Amino acid sequence: MPAEAPASIGAVSTAPSLPATPPFTLRARLLTPLQAGGQAYLDDARIDVDATGRLSGVSPFASPGGDASTDTPAAVVDLRPLVVMPGLVDLHAHLPQLPNAGLGAGLDLLSWLGRYIFPLERSFDDATAERLAPAAYRAFAAAGTTTVLLYGAVYEPSLEAAFRAAEAHGIRVIIGMVMMDRIRYDETLPDAAVLEASLRQSADLCSRWHMRDGGRLRYAVTPRFAVSCSAEMLRESAALAADTGAYWQTHLSEDRGEIAEVARLFPDALDYTDVYDRAGGLGPRSILAHAVHLSDRELARLVETGSRVAHCPESNLFLASGIMPLARYLEAGLIVGLGSDVAGGPDVSIFRQMRVGAQGQSTWRVMGGDDRPALDPFGWLRMGTLEGARALGLDAVTGSLEVGKEADLIALDPSMTSPVDGSDVQDPDELMSRLIFRTHPDMVRAAWVRGRLLDGPAGAVA
Ligand SMILES: [Zn+2]
Repeated sequence: MPAEAPASIGAVSTAPSLPATPPFTLRARLLTPLQAGGQAYLDDARIDVDATGRLSGVSPFASPGGDASTDTPAAVVDLRPLVVMPGLVDLHAHLPQLPNAGLGAGLDLLSWLGRYIFPLERSFDDATAERLAPAAYRAFAAAGTTTVLLYGAVYEPSLEAAFRAAEAHGIRVIIGMVMMDRIRYDETLPDAAVLEASLRQSADLCSRWHMRDGGRLRYAVTPRFAVSCSAEMLRESAALAADTGAYWQTHLSEDRGEIAEVARLFPDALDYTDVYDRAGGLGPRSILAHAVHLSDRELARLVETGSRVAHCPESNLFLASGIMPLARYLEAGLIVGLGSDVAGGPDVSIFRQMRVGAQGQSTWRVMGGDDRPALDPFGWLRMGTLEGARALGLDAVTGSLEVGKEADLIALDPSMTSPVDGSDVQDPDELMSRLIFRTHPDMVRAAWVRGRLLDGPAGAVA
């Protein structure tokens, strides 16, 4: 029996071919936060990407400044009705943990680490990294993430493989080899050698990869957290980050049991934040994941030092760690971006973090924790893009679609978020609300970093 003829038989396919490398010009709906505050929405925009991969024009398509009249039709890739947005920024994820995402619901943090995470990381050698890292970058890009700050495992060769894969894929990444000297996987190393080896390997990786490819690839010195690191390791790692200009990342105040354990291990410290402060770890290049249970003193100290926080709402509820009092933190002036914390969080999608984050804040308000104003959908978009970039000191490079920035873009099909045929929305606030609260796993159709198309998203729809 012959296949049924499609309704469009005889017509030329409307699927646009996605530009793979710069320069190119897109015509699409456009939605972006703005560096100066607020956001922009254009229902018919022109987005010019120059040969170096930078945004050289963002304007209404037919505006006099847009110079549309000089284009031949072939010069412009028309993506309408897709929406083009800045690529999302994930401030916290664990590369080796992706295979166990979604497993272990109901366990507390320290039990979950022992059962699902440490065994996975212990086996994360270079062969595993070569297999997993490319698939992980495709998964991040498919979710709309174009910049990600990652923890690797403890083995230097696996980090080398992870960087090589990122270099080839095109995603913007900052990665660090996990350092820990209280708990360790390699039993062949004598106690005294663990710290020295970890520092030397971190320094070697940093010298090879930090600022590679014009700064697309960067290094983060990565002591896991105070429970698994000695005071000396925390101090030496912070010194290495300061000496090299690399980032310094760790976990802070995620779970009540963890906080109690840190108090036991560091009896002289004022509180958890003070452990890192005494090590010289706080500052604008430091990204601290979670920070759910901060005292006023800790919050003030993080703000004072310019330290950054990765808010990981889905992970915090998956592991029942707590709900971050976000409005209090923002009012105090803390710089906060979003992190998936895969696999503490079950999903790499930053849109999912916006949704669960908003629901967590609603829960916090309902339970009487706070009556400060909640973020609206554009506030969440800003946190998942421009604020994440600001946390990394990259807000002049990425995080919004503005002339002069590098072209880190995603194209989405908002019709996939409609609950039923005929219910598409055009209003930008309603559009943003749908993208967050009805995120579809295939709605990101394309992603670019510096105008280079990333492997991962499904591609434009015919
Ligand atoms: Zn984590």
